[in-house]
Amino acid sequence: MAVSLSSTLLKNFIHGRYVDNSDNACFDIINPATGNVIYAAQTACEALLEEALKSAQEGFNTWSKTPPIERARILQRASVMLRERNDELAKIEVLDTGKPWQEAVEVDVQTGADAIEYFANLCPSMMGEQQSVGNDFFYTRHEPLGVCLGIGAWNYPLQIACWKAAAALAAGNSMIFKPSEETPRTASLLAEIFIKAGVPPGVFNVVHGDGAVGSYLVKHPKIAKVSLTGEVSTGKKVMAAAAGTLKNVTMELGGKSPLIVFEDANIDEAVTGAMLANFYTQGEVCTHGTRVFVHKNCYEAFMTSLLARTRDNIIVGDPLNPATNMGALISESHMQKVLSYIQLGKDEGATLAFGGERVKPAGCEKGYFVGPTIFTDCSDDMSITREEIFGPVMAVLSFDSEEDVIRRANDTIYGLAAGIFCNDIRRAHRVIAQLQAGICWINAYGNSPVEMPVGGYKQSGIGRENGVEAFKSYTQTKSVYVGMEKLEGPF
Ligand code: NDP
Repeated sequence: MAVSLSSTLLKNFIHGRYVDNSDNACFDIINPATGNVIYAAQTACEALLEEALKSAQEGFNTWSKTPPIERARILQRASVMLRERNDELAKIEVLDTGKPWQEAVEVDVQTGADAIEYFANLCPSMMGEQQSVGNDFFYTRHEPLGVCLGIGAWNYPLQIACWKAAAALAAGNSMIFKPSEETPRTASLLAEIFIKAGVPPGVFNVVHGDGAVGSYLVKHPKIAKVSLTGEVSTGKKVMAAAAGTLKNVTMELGGKSPLIVFEDANIDEAVTGAMLANFYTQGEVCTHGTRVFVHKNCYEAFMTSLLARTRDNIIVGDPLNPATNMGALISESHMQKVLSYIQLGKDEGATLAFGGERVKPAGCEKGYFVGPTIFTDCSDDMSITREEIFGPVMAVLSFDSEEDVIRRANDTIYGLAAGIFCNDIRRAHRVIAQLQAGICWINAYGNSPVEMPVGGYKQSGIGRENGVEAFKSYTQTKSVYVGMEKLEGPF
């Protein structure tokens, strides 16, 4: 049953086992660091999708009746197994995504395991309420929704699968998960781990394929809720399709987040924040603060440090090399998209202060690497300051008044995240309160502990992942009124 690193054909995982599709349709998965095909995956045909739905309904029937304390025990076992297999899973994530080993080994598996552990611990303590109304009373039950659909992006494949599955399963739902066709492997391994931990067959099925597979399920009347991580344009399509059967949706979408450096900030930390907010995971993070607003009084000091540290400390190279801290972009087409934005930045009048080119590291010459790139003299109306690039491209802008920078920071269709570096405690909270973003950091950037709800304002999303809020979003409230007196009526 196990998928080893050398497996060449990944099948769909339904009802506790890998199953063949009927038409042998497959697609290739490429290691972005080398450009080589590393394995293929079978596309889920319609018959398989129907099988996954039937299985998930059976899984739901069993799992929703499993006492929360027992669900918790099983999910805790799964989180332990994930941690035990940290290095193996991290290596697969590096090969599939191109991200550096030094990130994957510390973050990807562990944050996924954290989510499963957190929601497992939460589920037995989630209770309904009771209230008296005269001599009568009512109570509420928080019941699971049914068969949920998770659709993942390619930047954090295992973490995304874990975040969605953890909240859904802890609340008693079953889930069909469709990972990105570019990174389908670790979601399947998570499904194996759930089975080994004691999750009943059908509670977590994984189906493979492109948007058409996702779309078939999104429209399906048997799906109760859709949780998508992806681009804003995909979110709009998925939400429109889900509306046909009035499905509950959670949308974790893109952003073009502001990071504001005030003149009293610790410049060294602000530079660390800006580098994390643009170059971590080679720029492929939804919450990245890609519009860096720097107060004019500290602009020069900030830029001097930023350019020196980018030149001296970023190592673009083979993602499996532990020294590498910037890996490859997910695909050739995505690399071309990032390079075309860099060209647009130059064409529209920004100054290319650093990088801006494809990089061909030794041993990975055919990989999809773009070096860290910094633009200065940016204005608010340029393509590179308005559109999500999803690569290592930082746009630096300057400002001179608090009021002005707040207005400019909010002047976007997005509202996923925002960060400020500032030592004036009153200013910090005053500014954060005015920023239109769902995830904000003060003197930090990017931290996302599972206890903290995350999600977007405006077109960056709907609903929240993580925290108690996410658990509740996988339940529906049933109110039960109990008449204790003789029932009277006018008839
Ligand atoms: P996409 O929107 O291209 O794809 C996301 C998922 O949706 C993929 O599995 C994709 O399938 C699937 N999909 C595409 N079309 C449809 C459809 N019509 N119906 C159902 N499913 C569909 O995003 P990317 O994978 O390119 O990921 C990058 C994006 O994700 C960025 O915009 C980023 O900001 C965002 N993101 C948001 C996060 C958040 O928490 N807010 C976190 C991480 C990323 P396939 O690609 O396999 O064809």
